[in-house]
Amino acid sequence: MPFSDSSARRIPAVEIISPRVVDSWTHTRAGEPRGYIDSDQLKELWIHTGTACNLACPFCLEGSHPGDNRLAAMKLADVTPFIDEAVELGIGQFSFTGGEPFVIRDFVHILDYASQRRPCFVLTNATEPLLKRCEQLLPLKDNAYPIHFRVSLDYPDEARHDAGRGDGSFAKALEGIRWLREQGFVVSVARQTDEGEDAGAVEASFRDIFRIHNVPDDLPFTSFPDLGTPGSEDGSPEITETCMEKYPTKESRAHFMCSYSRMLVKKGDQVRVYACTLVDDDPDYDLGETLKESLDPRIMLRHHRCFACYRFGASCAEPT
Ligand code: SF4
Repeated sequence: MPFSDSSARRIPAVEIISPRVVDSWTHTRAGEPRGYIDSDQLKELWIHTGTACNLACPFCLEGSHPGDNRLAAMKLADVTPFIDEAVELGIGQFSFTGGEPFVIRDFVHILDYASQRRPCFVLTNATEPLLKRCEQLLPLKDNAYPIHFRVSLDYPDEARHDAGRGDGSFAKALEGIRWLREQGFVVSVARQTDEGEDAGAVEASFRDIFRIHNVPDDLPFTSFPDLGTPGSEDGSPEITETCMEKYPTKESRAHFMCSYSRMLVKKGDQVRVYACTLVDDDPDYDLGETLKESLDPRIMLRHHRCFACYRFGASCAEPT
């Protein structure tokens, strides 16, 4: 059987492999060795700008909302040593997520510093915080490396999008997309996935809306399953070493973000390096205080979101 089943999960692990007590980091609840990832190279560094956001979406995988400080706001001085270290390690891209990065006071300065060194990728809701900083953002177009923005537009249905994100947020996001494209920035769209959907039909509906609102209709899409809110446990099957035989080679594991990327998060006044963008609610994925040391530990696929990576190839990275 590829995954532990629900009846196995109800049995206390110590009864199965008594007398040794199971280490839940290395073994599943049924006592099987967990699947894992060994990272060899850092290709992408994510920087979590903090969990403060101008919106308060109930489905937010970071639990972000106005004034939230589960993860503290990054300052330029926090990130420059890591950006410099990443460049020394031969990184290919800097990526940014939140919260909403543009609510962070230092964000444009951080993006300026990073985009002078490598291509950058920014996840944003493209609403008021971005629109207020257009003038500040514009000069970054002339930096040495391009900046790509991925804008969240949940559904091709204004009312349904606004029910989660707040009245007017769909129209504002279209305004943000239009402005970014007019300035020549690269833009794509992050949308949510409905179970059993016809992806082609959903994306055609988006393109119809884009044409009506004078937004270019060639924007690429990335779709996401529901990844749950921080600290939640959705009962996903656990990933054993045997499961990972499905991905026997380094190449076949390349869609697991933890194989090639890391994320900086700020907790209190400390910046720490985490395994990926999906596990910052679990301190076991804190891999240290430098990028170099973060590449050494073996990453056990224990977090419930690891199953989304296993099954759907869920990744915050833009498909290439
Ligand atoms: S959530 Fe995905 S990328 Fe993150 S540690 Fe788990 S498998 Fe790796």
